[in-house]
Amino acid sequence: MPKDKVEVPCAFCRGTGRSRGAVCPVCRGAGTVSLSAPTRHCAYCRGSGLQQRGSALTCGVCGGVGWVTVEEDAVPCPPCGGTGVEPAVLGESQLPCLTCRGKGVISAERAKKLPPEKRRPRRRGRGYGSGEVTLEY
Ligand SMILES: [Zn+2]
Ligand SMILES: [Zn+2]
Ligand SMILES: [Zn+2]
Repeated sequence: MPKDKVEVPCAFCRGTGRSRGAVCPVCRGAGTVSLSAPTRHCAYCRGSGLQQRGSALTCGVCGGVGWVTVEEDAVPCPPCGGTGVEPAVLGESQLPCLTCRGKGVISAERAKKLPPEKRRPRRRGRGYGSGEVTLEY
């Protein structure tokens, strides 16, 4: 059973409980959503609750809440570098990272068990609609 529940503000309606003249479908008008602790901002939508900037679709990772429940010992997800976006398809379809499922973090325990090629973060921009953007550090 989940232990601590926390109330987080609904990102989709920005806590107003209403979206586009209707009751917010994410929080059902409450303005807040109850999640198991610990929580953090959804990496995939960067806490916006939207699938993409300017989109009216809810984020598939957090369901539009903008927050996700993470492990107690969460560390930045190595394959996606904490962005929550699958590195293999970055710049194209923008699928949630398969390792962290878009949360941007995984448990430290899991990070240790990743195969070596997955542990190296690939630093790349998200490249909205403009082909591939590579940032070299
Ligand atoms: Zn809402
Ligand atoms: Zn999200
Ligand atoms: Zn990841």
